[in-house]
Amino acid sequence: MAYDNDNVFAKILRGEIPNTTVYEDESVLAFNDIAPRTPVHVLVIPKRPYIDMDDFVLNGAPEEVSNFFSKVVEITHQLGLREDGYRLVANTGKNSGQLVPHFHIHIMSGKPLGEAGM
Ligand code: C5P
Repeated sequence: MAYDNDNVFAKILRGEIPNTTVYEDESVLAFNDIAPRTPVHVLVIPKRPYIDMDDFVLNGAPEEVSNFFSKVVEITHQLGLREDGYRLVANTGKNSGQLVPHFHIHIMSGKPLGEAGM
């Protein structure tokens, strides 16, 4: 499957669609989910084009992958979530219901999340 340059996160990265940025550097962008399901609901995406978790982990350079996950943890700290905790979700493939085909991690927190999935 080829990366779709017209997906909504590619448009956000090109500045064609607005977002509420909470963190940005040369390789990573984090922004508030437009339809938050929890009091804190932030999406973290690599700036390079990867379709999903599989694509990113299997085809990204090892240092790119490890840098990304370090940044995700850094962002949870920046959001003040270290003490109360958080949930990370990476929908991948058909059964997950992944809607946007640009790899992203959901950071969810702000209340006890219980056992339910996303
Ligand atoms: O993991 P999945 O692909 O289903 O999640 C995509 C997420 O992107 C949704 O939570 C949706 O609310 C969010 N979204 C967004 N800004 C957009 C379009 C979608 O935050 N412009």
